[in-house]
Amino acid sequence: MSTDNNGNQTLSQIYDICSSLYKTMSDGSSRDHSEVFSYLTELGKVLANADRASFWKWDKRHHELWTVSATGTDKIVIPDQSGLVGKALREKRVLVTNDPYSDPDFNPSVDKKTGYTTKSVLVMPVTNINGEYIGAFQIINKLDGGFEEERDVRALSLAALICGIALESETFRDESMHDKLTGLKNRMGFYQDFSNKYGKVLSGERKLSLFICDIDKFKRVNDTYGHNAGDRVLEFASALVESFAGENEGVYRWGGEEFIMLMPDTDLQGCVAKAETIREKLQNSPCNAEGNIINLTMSFGCAVFDPSKTIEENVSVADGHLYTAKETGRNRVIYE
Ligand code: GH3
Ligand code: MG
Ligand code: MG
Repeated sequence: MSTDNNGNQTLSQIYDICSSLYKTMSDGSSRDHSEVFSYLTELGKVLANADRASFWKWDKRHHELWTVSATGTDKIVIPDQSGLVGKALREKRVLVTNDPYSDPDFNPSVDKKTGYTTKSVLVMPVTNINGEYIGAFQIINKLDGGFEEERDVRALSLAALICGIALESETFRDESMHDKLTGLKNRMGFYQDFSNKYGKVLSGERKLSLFICDIDKFKRVNDTYGHNAGDRVLEFASALVESFAGENEGVYRWGGEEFIMLMPDTDLQGCVAKAETIREKLQNSPCNAEGNIINLTMSFGCAVFDPSKTIEENVSVADGHLYTAKETGRNRVIYE
């Protein structure tokens, strides 16, 4: 086959991947973006003419690297100091090896696990538009000989650019739905889950119960021990509430020291029982906030979701019961 034909074939593959990618993005069905990243990884593989490709996100908060998408393997999570990807990001440069098994930074554990043999690797760190390193492309086993840094980086740059922008956009969206202090989803995440995960609740096809809870006399914690200790108490209380959430249940930071738990397929009795369990557990779990041992309690308002009302009206019903719990002495669960 002549070079021209090869070139045409590659171009045709690129067009196919890009048109599938566009269709996936514009039909809005791939909300977790995994399909988008898998097309972009495929694009990298074709552009660099390699057998495998993976795209890694650098999670700086947890000091981890994980595969947003990878051909041939499931999601891999590694410490960000390890492997060739870690080294490329640490040193902010492209790494190429056509003899990985004699490279001390190469981690052969994935090969061992999957029975694959890595013969050549190219890692290209990816930045956001501000030049901050946010991830990396890893291309494995060049199909026609070994990698040549200049040629292959040039070929891969289109996929690396788009992947960097997509990853940055996804990260922003994710951060906007989470609360930085507690790590819980915030109000935006709550509404997002209502329209996606719990969509059938709004149409009445699925039952859901919820409670809203609020730390009692929390202002006193701030006033007595300071705002930092108050923050530790919020982390402690939110983690305790979240530890009681089942697989399909969600906990959200609704406001300052207020949390909501959504429990699909649960009736009022189940919701009240869960709230009661959490209330008791918190009461019996003193919190160590910066060396201060603080006893905490929470008040709860429960409700069954009524699809004839808006989301806000439903939260108001639970909030009304929370108000009653506060009015009648705190540290209690009210549901009617
Ligand atoms: P009640 O039992 O009626 O709920 O009394 P309370 O003191 O808990 O209620 P109030 O609404 O008066 O106080 C809530 C306090 O929570 C006031 C606010 O400063 C504090 N707060 C809100 N967000 C944060 C935060 O992120 N960190 C800290 N440390 N405090 C916060
Ligand atoms: Mg309070
Ligand atoms: Mg409050």
